Amino acid sequence: MVHSGLSEADECGDLGSPVHEDRRQTNAHTKSFRATANVATAGIADLSYFLQFPSQLERQFLADTASERSKLLIRRSPVVMLTFVGMLNADWFMVPDRFQTALVIRTLAFIPLFLLTMHLFVRLSATSLRDWLLTGSGALTALFNLLVIAPSISPLAFSYLATLALTVVCWDSILRPGFLPALAHSIMVMAGFCFATFVMPDHGGVLAIPILVLLVSSMVFSLYGNYTLERSERAAYLQRLNQNLLRTKLGMVNDRLSRQAHLDPLTGIPNRRHFDDSLAKIVHSQSERPQLLPDEISVILLDVDFFKPYNDNYGHPAGDRCLQALAQALFQSVRQPKDLVARVGGEEFAVVLSNATNHYGIEVSERIHNALKALSMPHAFRPDAVNFVSISMGLATGTPVDQDSMMKLISEADQALYRAKSLGRNRMCNGSMPSDT
Ligand code: GH3
Ligand code: MG
Ligand code: MG
Repeated sequence: MVHSGLSEADECGDLGSPVHEDRRQTNAHTKSFRATANVATAGIADLSYFLQFPSQLERQFLADTASERSKLLIRRSPVVMLTFVGMLNADWFMVPDRFQTALVIRTLAFIPLFLLTMHLFVRLSATSLRDWLLTGSGALTALFNLLVIAPSISPLAFSYLATLALTVVCWDSILRPGFLPALAHSIMVMAGFCFATFVMPDHGGVLAIPILVLLVSSMVFSLYGNYTLERSERAAYLQRLNQNLLRTKLGMVNDRLSRQAHLDPLTGIPNRRHFDDSLAKIVHSQSERPQLLPDEISVILLDVDFFKPYNDNYGHPAGDRCLQALAQALFQSVRQPKDLVARVGGEEFAVVLSNATNHYGIEVSERIHNALKALSMPHAFRPDAVNFVSISMGLATGTPVDQDSMMKLISEADQALYRAKSLGRNRMCNGSMPSDT
């Protein structure tokens, strides 16, 4: 009947897990996988038109890249701050009449504004607002420069407007907001420059042309760099997302295969492989703690009585249904998920009761007996006087601590089952007690 081929304990979960649990888990995984896969596919489709993902993916992208963006900004912010405070030197030479105002604006307005921007940028971490915040603070910084330069009567004042290009480079290239906020910032700076050329007394004359060229070229180069960088950053993100999806998919397939390899397809309960692995697991856990007394394990081996005539007369499909009903009855008669019910052969089953006395084994075998009786499946083709489907059971209890003692326990249960058969079937024989029930 049952011969246990013990193998190393593997990644199996609880001892007894029915097939519908497996299906439920697989469905849940598949659903979440499909949701992410749809999002990633939609993202790839849209990336070629705008540097913007569909809203759900965009939120995920912002959240996943938020801390990296904050770190980059914090690393680069001293450069920007020193540049604009350091411009006080240039103020002194280019617009000396505005130096005091410049000192006040750069220290009392620019520094607090810049620090507040950095603080809010980190706080607003996962929203697209943070990039528009940079647009706002960049535009204000350009305005501060204009406030210093425009009212000046210095002959060098107009040429000093060229430093607006610095605002563009610092904000768009160094602090690197998204492309659209950077574009908005550039447009605002350009508007500021146009406004200054009209309000400044000499309108700059032909000097406006090289300054305009400088400003436009720094905008174009900054925005081009900004665009390509953001595009490759987003493409790399999608690639990572797809790699993760593939890994998840592979993991799911592996999980499913591994679960299926341990389930009996007909009854949905664990199969012989799971049974063997579970016995190995028990032996392993008992041998892992030699300082403690080993747990008592009770094993019941069961075999359907006269199942061949049942099949021959009622048909194979009816036989299958009978096995399925029996498997459910067994499953419901034990403690879940502590105990194991497995189909170990054609019409042979095994129940492994962890941490269970022989007395408890008897109790479970009675429960099984009653559950089967309650099913009252007719079997009119038996050679004995009984006319319903019955089972014979062999029970054995022991404290197996290694492979040999576990094999001995299984063999005792097997002999008890053999005795139950030879004593007339439809009964349980107790291999660990002198008198059978
Ligand atoms: P015993 O009381 O001595 O156990 O007699 P038995 O007829 O039950 O034993 P035997 O070993 O002669 O027959 C077992 C039968 O179980 C044979 C086979 O047709 C049937 N069987 C095995 N696996 C399946 C299965 O998956 N489905 C169905 N329907 N029948 C099965
Ligand atoms: Mg058999
Ligand atoms: Mg049989």
